[in-house]
Amino acid sequence: MKKAQIVFFLMISSLITMIIYDQVQQVPLDEEPPVEKKVIRVTIPEEKEIIPEFEGKTFEKVFTVNKIDDIIYNRINTLSYKENDYIEIEDLRYLKVSYWGFDNKRHYGELIVHASLAQEVIDIFKDLYDAKYPIEKIKLVDEYQADDNLSMIDNNSSAFNFRYIAGSKKLSNHAFGMAIDINPLQNPYVSSSSVQPLEGERYADRSLDEKGMIQIGDACYEAFTSRGWTWGGEWKSIKDYQHFEKNTNEN
Ligand SMILES: [Zn+2]
Repeated sequence: MKKAQIVFFLMISSLITMIIYDQVQQVPLDEEPPVEKKVIRVTIPEEKEIIPEFEGKTFEKVFTVNKIDDIIYNRINTLSYKENDYIEIEDLRYLKVSYWGFDNKRHYGELIVHASLAQEVIDIFKDLYDAKYPIEKIKLVDEYQADDNLSMIDNNSSAFNFRYIAGSKKLSNHAFGMAIDINPLQNPYVSSSSVQPLEGERYADRSLDEKGMIQIGDACYEAFTSRGWTWGGEWKSIKDYQHFEKNTNEN
């Protein structure tokens, strides 16, 4: 072989080695091949037992209770919290909870409840998490300018809001952080004259039993009622299917 041929041969062989080495390097060890991901997606609507997808691979469960600090106070003051003679900011607690969304992923939610119920509410949401009970959103009602109707239409689950019972001068148990509404769209307030939110009207038919609807005996119902909370779905005249309450002020 001529010198030029040898050099050419060496160049080609080292190029091939580099290409092979590069391909070996590019195979990520910790990722699934894209083909398998596709298969999983296709099976999701069919399967009842599915492998859950996580919001990030390192999801850490969070269940915390904190006093209302300045940052939270500034978020809620003049919205869900107003100066009043019934409840002080020191009586409230800010909770962070983990929950399973309608998207079958894990999320973090935040809510404000009365201090006397804070640990119990944490236990309730731990039960809901363990049962993978689907909740679409858990944000402070202040994200909706403390407008309960806007929060309900967006299917937001929330607790504290210093407000009166709709159409009355009586304070709601939400005003004390002693009531929690879950999936309000699938669990509307139903009276003889109205459904609220109106967007949830079809769910006044409780036989539908769709995702997020609370039913007697399900994990949500049990988590609250086993701890002495009342469910608005069991009230006699009007039904408030989204609503659980426990008033520790009354005797
Ligand atoms: Zn309510």
